[in-house]
Amino acid sequence: MRRREFLAVSAAALAAPRGRAAEERSTPPSKPPWYASMRRCGQLNFNERDPLTLDVEGWATYWSSLKVDALLLNGGGIVAFYPTEVPHHHRSEFLGRRDLFGEMTAEARKRGIRVVARMDCNFAYEEAFRARPEWFERERDGSPRRHGESTWLYKTCMFGPYFTEQMPAIYREINRGYAPDGFFTNGWPSTGGLTVCYCESCQKVYGRIGGEPPGETDATSPVYRRFYEACMDRIAEVWRLWDQVAREGRPDSVYVGNLGGGIRVVKDLARLAEVAAWFNADHQGRAGDTPIWDCAQQGRVAQSVMKGRTITNVTGAYSNSRPVWRHVAKPAAETTLWMAQTTASGMVPWFHWLGGAPEDQRWRDAGRDFFAWLARNEAHFRNRRSVADLAVLFPQSTIAFYRSGSASGSWRGQERAQTSEYLQGLYYALLEGRFLFDFVHEKDLTRETLGRYRALLIPNAAHLSDEACNGIHAFVAGGGSLLATFETSRYDAWGDRRDDLALGDLLGASVAGEVIGPAGNSYMRMERPHPLTEGFAGTTLLPGPEHRLPVRAREAASPLLTVVPAYPAFPPEMVYPRTPRTDEPAVLLREQGRSRVVYFPGDVERTFWRSGNPDLGRLLAQAIRWLRGPEPAPVTVDGEGVVEAFAWETEPGYALHLLNYTNPNMTRGFVRRFYAIGSQTVRFDVAPGRTITRVEALRVRRALPFRQQGTAVRFEVPGVVDYEVVALS
Ligand SMILES: [Zn+2]
Repeated sequence: MRRREFLAVSAAALAAPRGRAAEERSTPPSKPPWYASMRRCGQLNFNERDPLTLDVEGWATYWSSLKVDALLLNGGGIVAFYPTEVPHHHRSEFLGRRDLFGEMTAEARKRGIRVVARMDCNFAYEEAFRARPEWFERERDGSPRRHGESTWLYKTCMFGPYFTEQMPAIYREINRGYAPDGFFTNGWPSTGGLTVCYCESCQKVYGRIGGEPPGETDATSPVYRRFYEACMDRIAEVWRLWDQVAREGRPDSVYVGNLGGGIRVVKDLARLAEVAAWFNADHQGRAGDTPIWDCAQQGRVAQSVMKGRTITNVTGAYSNSRPVWRHVAKPAAETTLWMAQTTASGMVPWFHWLGGAPEDQRWRDAGRDFFAWLARNEAHFRNRRSVADLAVLFPQSTIAFYRSGSASGSWRGQERAQTSEYLQGLYYALLEGRFLFDFVHEKDLTRETLGRYRALLIPNAAHLSDEACNGIHAFVAGGGSLLATFETSRYDAWGDRRDDLALGDLLGASVAGEVIGPAGNSYMRMERPHPLTEGFAGTTLLPGPEHRLPVRAREAASPLLTVVPAYPAFPPEMVYPRTPRTDEPAVLLREQGRSRVVYFPGDVERTFWRSGNPDLGRLLAQAIRWLRGPEPAPVTVDGEGVVEAFAWETEPGYALHLLNYTNPNMTRGFVRRFYAIGSQTVRFDVAPGRTITRVEALRVRRALPFRQQGTAVRFEVPGVVDYEVVALS
């Protein structure tokens, strides 16, 4: 299906919750749930002492000034903020005669704000541990697991009855008393690694799966694989149960789990999205050397599985740095750019502060200014679909499980920070090249999903299922273009090695040896002129990838780039090439009809990320441009600066989102201030027959002059300080 045809697909079809599709197939379509039209939410995270001092009216007034649709308020779990009667459910020791949850709920509702009960299912007090020891996680020696800092709290086990008996009892009590609009659990299920526990319930699971699983993520272990499935099954079972219990209170209620993790995930997001009516990404901010775009990336990851259904992302207004400070604000600029990424990537911002008696008030304006601006322009944030026509494969199983880039297993034990570097490198090249793109999940490579894209870009997806490879084959057979790197498709989803690359026929390559690397000081020699290697005047050598898979070309062709193998980099006397020329390809190109394929047998994208050498970014960007052939991109944005762009078809028309990352704190937080970029020249392709009558820059509140010729709308954005949204209607 071409892009234009796809535009005709109704938004309603895209908005249908996939997880419920099966259950609801026999019933007529109902109206969208309340949270589908929610655009702003807020959260005040009570602490146990808050009942002594909390100014309910003051807080309700603040949240109302942000024009939030929903407010997250602590109900119970670890601590009940209402007079609970559920046995072993700890009431706040400062609750006294107050009902903090009830009071705050009433004040919010007076102001037309919905209330979601924020719960915590992960820990309980010693009293509960003594009464119901089977609720809790155990070490191998049988000792309970306590919280690292708050050592008086005991960790509950998701395989135990706390999750199927105690939590539902608490939800039911809250439903009876307050009928909230939904329930949310802090910290569960998360998208991180699996927990190995030795409680009674878990021992039964291990009996079923044939042994105790390894303590670390290790998909080479058959027991780990079965444990992974058992964990995903249990999460789905608990999620469904809690959603069902939530709806006993009111049919339009919902249970929301806690997800997130950005691109660094272990749990199967595609499966989680089957049970999640609403995806909350608890991706509150960044620390250390995390690049600023981590939030926009989170949005792309979540979109790849939710596909237009509700996604929220939490922005922590406190300093969630390393070290962390819960009770001082991070700079307003960082908070604002995080919320801007949330909305640009199509998520709903959820603004979060901890503790009811803040001494630092600086965060308040950051939230209010941004949310008030959002509310004024709300229609333009009602997205129908992304207009990007480049798809980036989100290689979840590679990020989760990939261990052995080399036969020697020298990468064993590497963290997901490293397995996500392939995607991070490609992402950085896409930003520098100012491409518009979406993520597609590796389990969703169907004709329906891929059909609207011109090209599929695969950052080393070493692990790919047969089904995924079949989807890619069909996409290319239908005229789609493809970029792939390194060990893409050499292993199945769990990591069992195939005899050759499953996509070898498309890539035009056969494996000819074991992975070589890590090795610096290798090169790629440019053998002939080509659009991929334009702009490299003055050199015949380009920096080579740190690892490469030796391959044999399946078709005879004169290579564009050849491998110059690594030679010593030290001492200087020894630095000369031992084999200056080979015929081993460093890139393979194929063209068949409309389809173009680029395959780099080296990890060029990861090497780009690790080294920062711009030659590799340029090479990748030019490869992506070549894949498109003569067909124009749906949107182009030309100008100075590092920008991330999103373009959406919206309810009123279209919206172009430009995030200005041009900042010394782009790759290390926090952004303190913005450095405005100048004029950006935009060409925006609209649907045939669609006449644009107004182009408006929403952040500076100014109508922009524009020209429309056929489907192409051209205009200049005079500049971008932090974020600009240009609405075409
Ligand atoms: Zn357990």
